[in-house]
Amino acid sequence: MTRRKIAAGNWKMNTSFESGMELAKSLSEKTIPSDVEVVLGIPYVFLKPAIDLLSNNKSISVSAQNCHSEEKGAYTGEISANMLQSINCPYVILGHSERRQYFNESNEELAAKVNMAFAQNLSVIFCCGEPLEIRKANKQNEYVTSQIKEGLFHLSDVDLSKIVIAYEPIWAIGTGETASPEQAQDMHANLRSFIAESYGEKVANIIPILYGGSVKSANAKEIFGQNDVDGGLVGGASLDANHFEKIINSFS
Ligand code: PEP
Repeated sequence: MTRRKIAAGNWKMNTSFESGMELAKSLSEKTIPSDVEVVLGIPYVFLKPAIDLLSNNKSISVSAQNCHSEEKGAYTGEISANMLQSINCPYVILGHSERRQYFNESNEELAAKVNMAFAQNLSVIFCCGEPLEIRKANKQNEYVTSQIKEGLFHLSDVDLSKIVIAYEPIWAIGTGETASPEQAQDMHANLRSFIAESYGEKVANIIPILYGGSVKSANAKEIFGQNDVDGGLVGGASLDANHFEKIINSFS
């Protein structure tokens, strides 16, 4: 089964308007294999200019890094899925561990965000991943499958098939410590069989599962080469166009 190959960048709260647009422009001039989708997780205020800048580029899409679970209303400072849809933003990242950790996003709230994103026809990159103490206790499989179950298993087969999952062990995010290719493969295979138990093999085999956590050009090839790894969600290394280009070209 050939699944979509995705190299997603997460700029987090980085770049200025000028440096962000420069980064998007440099990436638009890079060589991107025709079977690889590049998605850039860009700060809200730069989304529309980035969408305009990349409007003729078929390989690169833009993503928000979050949206609210309510449709609209008195939520000062928040951004709705409808607002993203209204500027033709195709993707939203939901449930990043930094949002779960610093903004107390629960699986229940994330399930509501996923519904809102789908109601606005946004594609969702849904993040999951365990903290270090859970990995040390060898409880990562139960922990991550419960994030997936509580965040996504209310969806129909059709909607779940549209999800992109990003497995990002928290101990590997921004730390320079990467999960080994085997650890990534084990978790991705575990997630796929967990999905298959409830939704069947066909759905489980369609869903791209990305790995995130200190992906660099030096380790991307080996990680992306694993059977159940369909690409990466890349933080720090996506802020350098030349470096990210190498990661984009690390699929075999
Ligand atoms: C991330 O932002 O999701 C991430 C994985 O960051 P980094 O690549 O810097 O570890």
